[in-house]
Amino acid sequence: MVRTVMTVGGEPLTATDTFGVINPATGKVFAEAPDCTRQQLDKAVDAAARAFVDWRRDEEPRREALRRAAAAIMESQDELADILSAEQGKPVPAAAYEVSQTALWLEVSADLPLPREVIQDDETAYAEVVRRPLGVVAAITPWNYPLLLAGWKIGPALVAGNTVVLKPSPFTPLSTLKFGEVINAVLPPGVVNVVSGGDELGAWMTSHPTVRKISFTGSVATGKAVAAAAAPDLKRVTLELGGNDPAIVLDDADPAAISGGIFWGAFINCGQICAGIKRVYVPEALHDDLVEALAARARKVRVGEGTQKGVQLGPINNKPQFERVRELVDDALANGATAVAGGKAMERDGYFFEPTILTGVSEGTRIVDEEQFGPALPVIPYSDLDDAIERANATHFGLCGSVWSSDTDRAAEVAGQLECGTSYINSHLAIHPHLPFGGRKWSGIGVENGPWGLSGFTELQVLYTARSRW
Ligand code: NAD
Repeated sequence: MVRTVMTVGGEPLTATDTFGVINPATGKVFAEAPDCTRQQLDKAVDAAARAFVDWRRDEEPRREALRRAAAAIMESQDELADILSAEQGKPVPAAAYEVSQTALWLEVSADLPLPREVIQDDETAYAEVVRRPLGVVAAITPWNYPLLLAGWKIGPALVAGNTVVLKPSPFTPLSTLKFGEVINAVLPPGVVNVVSGGDELGAWMTSHPTVRKISFTGSVATGKAVAAAAAPDLKRVTLELGGNDPAIVLDDADPAAISGGIFWGAFINCGQICAGIKRVYVPEALHDDLVEALAARARKVRVGEGTQKGVQLGPINNKPQFERVRELVDDALANGATAVAGGKAMERDGYFFEPTILTGVSEGTRIVDEEQFGPALPVIPYSDLDDAIERANATHFGLCGSVWSSDTDRAAEVAGQLECGTSYINSHLAIHPHLPFGGRKWSGIGVENGPWGLSGFTELQVLYTARSRW
């Protein structure tokens, strides 16, 4: 049985209580993770607050430390990937890619500028606007991309001069705990502290009086609870929440040519991705061809345990999510939908679900209106483009969207009408460290990545020197 430790103040910290971590490919507990107590969380926050005093001072050592952390992650790539695959379910090569992307994000963060802007320099005054760190950041992550999303937070938080207490999801604590050990070997003690526990640990973090900033990725419901917890203390928040991304196919698109992009835009990571395609709008004339092309891919894709060679999709990460996907697909089928591919759970241990393409569904059915976050995709025909755009926008979500066409100018015109943070043309899920990523409406507040993400970990300060006397 794998046993793991938390890292607080640069030292390993064990807990009296532990909780089981399940391998989603078997449905069985394979490891125990520490269940952090409230006193231990206080210790972690204190360690971060003490480390902040020195860490905030000099920019260059911070950048160097981040580069060392990125290198340390790559040195442990195989070990981290194996742990991540075992607890999350994704194929080992996909887990290794996530590890390398995490390192990349830290490297890119290490080079992000912290500009000092001179606004006035004349005989009356010298005025500069500078960026200051906020203090202790509570970083809270979900179970779909635990390491990458931790990297999105830690990189900019640290380069700006903040220190961090990081908490992964209770479904996937192990890779983040290991990541904490790995980077703490090269970071000053207390700069990044990693704790693990249940949802209540997240709530303790968001209401902790020392924490000045909450960087949260997760569901809309929890995001609202986090915003409410932050309000009494006016803590700064960045919320990256759920999505129900539409893909709109235009009438000049070639179904065979776009089916790969749409399929993987929806099914990567077994559909467990905030910014994945969750519903497809297609002109009536192209509907059958696109459905068949998507279904052919769904039937062919290799689903299995992440450790098996050649596997493309693993299981759904956890039982509640598995039950949710099953419930939404059953609900669609009960309301007249057809599963052209898949449609049910696989008959084997673990949380495996057949890659599913649904037709005969529309708004008013849960799988179209809600975020399914799993391997099931509804394809919806339309006859009028303006109507399709309106339906695509008629949701509380607003993370990403995409438009698929042979005419990129025409597609760009439609893409500009989607109410979302990123609007793709002939693509979906192209997420880069230099592009801001965030959602409109209920999909979030603020953005991550690039200089825009970095600014969420800073506060502006005006330094004003008077040059004329009263
Ligand atoms: P979740 O909201 O259940 O949990 C996310 C994290 O919040 C976990 O670490 C959890 O322990 C913690 N948490 C739970 N209750 C809390 C509370 N009251 N206070 C503070 N923390 C609390 O989400 P999930 O099921 O782990 O993840 C799936 C969701 O995440 C989906 O909705 C998905 O779209 C979203 N997501 C968004 C992005 C993005 O960048 N926009 C990226 C990945 C996932």
